[in-house]
Amino acid sequence: MTEEGYYYASNALAAPEHGGTHLDAPLHFWAEGESVDAVPLERLIGPGVVIDVRAAVAASRDHQVSVDDLLAWERAHGLIPPGAIVLLHTGFGAHWPDRRRYLGTEERGEAAVAQLHFPGLLPHAAAWLADTRKVHAVGLDTASIDYGQSKRFESHVALFRRGVPAFENVANLERLPAKGFTVIALPMKIAGGSGAPLRIVAVLDGPGSVKK
Ligand SMILES: [Zn+2]
Repeated sequence: MTEEGYYYASNALAAPEHGGTHLDAPLHFWAEGESVDAVPLERLIGPGVVIDVRAAVAASRDHQVSVDDLLAWERAHGLIPPGAIVLLHTGFGAHWPDRRRYLGTEERGEAAVAQLHFPGLLPHAAAWLADTRKVHAVGLDTASIDYGQSKRFESHVALFRRGVPAFENVANLERLPAKGFTVIALPMKIAGGSGAPLRIVAVLDGPGSVKK
C-alpha cells in the first residue's frame, strides 16, 4: 500500500538463461545455431507426444533414451508425426527440488560435475528424431537433454546442428496422455540468448483443458 492510498507491486528480476524450466537454443552448443529470439515459432507450437521411459529409468538412473525406446512407443501409439514436439517422461520431475535425487548430488559447481546422475537422450536417438521423424523440438523432465554422465554433450550438438531446440526441467508430464495434445512453448525473447526461461503448456485435443 502506497502513501497515496493505492496498492502497487513491481519486482526486479535477474536470472540465468538455463535455470528452472527453460529452452536451449541451438546457439547453446552450436556456433552457427539460432539464438533464442531467432528460433522459429513453428518449432515451439505443435503436436506433442510423451515417451514414457520411467521403467527403464527405474532400473538405471543413467538411462539414455534409445531408438529402441522410441520404436517401442511407436508400436503402441503409431508413428511420431512430422513436426512433433517430443517429451521424454523419465519420472525425474517427481524428484524436484531435491538436488540429490534430481541431479544425483547435492554438490554444486565443478565438484558436482562428475557426480551428476540423471537420465537423458542418446546422441544417436537425438539425430534419429531429427532426421527420420523430422521432429521440431525435444523436451524432458531432467536438467539436461544429455544424461548426467555426459562428457561432450553430444545430444545437445546432434539436435542443435540440426536446428532442433531442447526444453529442460519440464514439469507435470505425468498429467499428459501419450499423444493427442498441442504443445505451446514460448520462451522469453532474449536477443542473442543461448536459452531462456520457458512457459510451456499443453492443450488437450477435443473439449479439453490447458495443462501447464
Ligand atoms: Zn541443455
